[in-house]
Amino acid sequence: MVTSSVPLLRGTPVVPGVAFAPALVVRAEVSPEALARFDSAAYADPDAALVAYDEAAQAVSDGFLRKAAAVTGDATKVLTASAGLARDKGLRGAVRKHLRAGEGLLESVQAGVDQFVTVFTGMGGLMAERVTDLRDIGLRITAHLVGEPEPGVGVPEAPSVLVAEDLAPADTAGLDPALVAALVTERGGPTSHTAIIARQLGIPCVVGVTGAMTVLPGTALLVDGTAGTVETAPDEQVARERVAADAAARAALASWSGPGRTADGRPVKVLANVADGASSRSAADAPVQGVGLFRTELCFLNRQDEPSVDEQASIYAEVLAPFGGDRYVVVRTLDAGSDKPVAFATHEGEENPALGVRGLRLSFDNPGLLDRQLDAVQRAAASTGTEAWVMAPMVATVAEAAEFADKVRSRGLRPGVMVEVPSAALLAHRMLEVVDFLSIGTNDLTQYTMAADRMATDLAHLTDAWQPAVLQLIAITAEAGRRAGKPVGVCGEAAADPLLACVLVGMGITSLSMAAAAVRPVGAQLARASSHDCEEAAEAALAASDPLAARDAVRALLG
Ligand code: PEP
Ligand code: MG
Repeated sequence: MVTSSVPLLRGTPVVPGVAFAPALVVRAEVSPEALARFDSAAYADPDAALVAYDEAAQAVSDGFLRKAAAVTGDATKVLTASAGLARDKGLRGAVRKHLRAGEGLLESVQAGVDQFVTVFTGMGGLMAERVTDLRDIGLRITAHLVGEPEPGVGVPEAPSVLVAEDLAPADTAGLDPALVAALVTERGGPTSHTAIIARQLGIPCVVGVTGAMTVLPGTALLVDGTAGTVETAPDEQVARERVAADAAARAALASWSGPGRTADGRPVKVLANVADGASSRSAADAPVQGVGLFRTELCFLNRQDEPSVDEQASIYAEVLAPFGGDRYVVVRTLDAGSDKPVAFATHEGEENPALGVRGLRLSFDNPGLLDRQLDAVQRAAASTGTEAWVMAPMVATVAEAAEFADKVRSRGLRPGVMVEVPSAALLAHRMLEVVDFLSIGTNDLTQYTMAADRMATDLAHLTDAWQPAVLQLIAITAEAGRRAGKPVGVCGEAAADPLLACVLVGMGITSLSMAAAAVRPVGAQLARASSHDCEEAAEAALAASDPLAARDAVRALLG
C-alpha cells in the first residue's frame, strides 16, 4: 500500500467502530484537462447551448433515478429528490438568463448553480444542507457537457475507507456497508448529511478531519470512530488486533436487552426518537421503555395546509399505539421553522430563522395551531390508551413554560419543556416549578450556546456537545431536576454517544432518548459503568478544557 506523510489526523467522532482499510479518496471535480479541451464556440448560440444543458441535466437526472431504483428507504427518497433538483425549472431559468447575456455554456451552468447556492445558503438549515447536493449536480452536468464520466464515489473493489472533502447525498445514498469500511470527511459536523447516513448504516465515521484530503489514495488507514482519530499507515498487526477487539466489543453490545441501568443498578430510562408511525413501530421492537422524542413536525414537511384535528389524531395514534402497556411517548409539539420549514406554520422571509419565530414561538400569534395539535394528541392518547407526555420546543422563559403547561394539563396530559436555549437551562429550577419534566435538546442547546449554526460544516469543532460550556448548562439543568425530584432527560444527539451518555447520567440525567440504532451500544456501555464511574466521568468532562480533552479523559476512565 502507498503511505502518506501524515501520521495521525483528528476530527469529530460520529459513529463508533474501528476499521482498517486502504483509502479511496473521492475528489469532487471535473478534470482540468477536459475543461480546457471544451469547445465553447460550438455553443455560441444560446438556444443550442440550452438544448445541450437540457440533455445533460436529463442524463444526470436519469442517473439519479437509476440509482434510486437500486436502493430502498431513505436512500431512494434522497436520490429521487436529487433527480428532481437536476431538472429544476428555476435552475434552468438561471442558466438560460446567463446564456442569453452572452456567457459561455460552462460559465452559465456555474453561475446558475452559484446563484441557487446563495439562495439556499441564505435560507439556512435544511435548505443550506442541499447546497452540497446542488454543487454536486452542477459538477455532474458539467462532466456530461465536457464528455467525462460523472465525478463522485465509484464502487470500491474491496472494502475501503472513503475519504472526501464532504459527501453529497447522491454519494452516500447508495453506499454499500460491505464495501465501505469507514467514512472520513474533511468538512462536515455531527449533524451533516454524511454523519446522518453513516449513523443509519452503522459505518464508523469521523468528520471535520483537518488534513483528510492530504491522504494519498491507497494509504492504509486505521479509523477509530469513537476516538475521532485516523492513523495513516499504522503497524498492520496492531491495527488488525484493534479491529478484532472492537468487533468483539460490538458483538457484546448487540446482545444488550435492557432495561436501562448502571452496573450498580441505578435505573436510567433508555428511550427512542421517532418521526412517524413506521419508525415508532420499528423502535417498539428495540429494548426501550418508550419514546423520548416524537418530532411531530417531520410528519408535515410536505403538507401545504394544516391537517384537521381528526387527521392529526390518527397520525399521532399510529405513533402512540405501539407503546401501550407500561411504556409511554413524549410528543413534541410542532418545531416548525428554521431548519424544518412547514408550509402552513413557518414564518416566511425571516432574516435569521434560527433565532426567529420557530417552535413554541409560532403559537404567539397563532394559538389555535397549538390548541388544535394538543386536542389531537389528547384524542390519540385516549384512543390508544398510551400514556402521553407533551413538551414544547424552543422555550426561553418561565412564563412560556407556565402557559404551555396549563394548556397541556387542562387536557389531562403531562407537560414538560425542552431545554434548547441557554436561558431555559439557567432557569431550569424555575421551569420545574411549572412543568413536570425537562428534556434537553443538545443539538440546539449546543448551537445557541456556542453561537454556531448546527448545519455549518466549518464549525464542527464548536457544534460539539462535549464543549465545556454546553456540559456546564446540562449539569445545571440536571441538578435542578435532582433537587426538584423531577425527571430531566436528554433527547439530542448527545444521548446516542455511549461515553457522553455515561457523563450525562453522572450529572443526574434520568432518561436518554436516541435513534433506535444507538440504543444497544448506549445501554450496554451504561451497564458496564457504576454510578460512581459515571459521576467521575462527569467531573472529568466538566473539568476538561475542550471536547478532545474531555473525550480522552472520559475514555481513560470508562474504557
Ligand atoms: C435538539 O435540538 O437537540 C432536538 C432534539 O431537537 P431537533 O434536533 O429536532 O431540533
Ligand atoms: Mg431542537
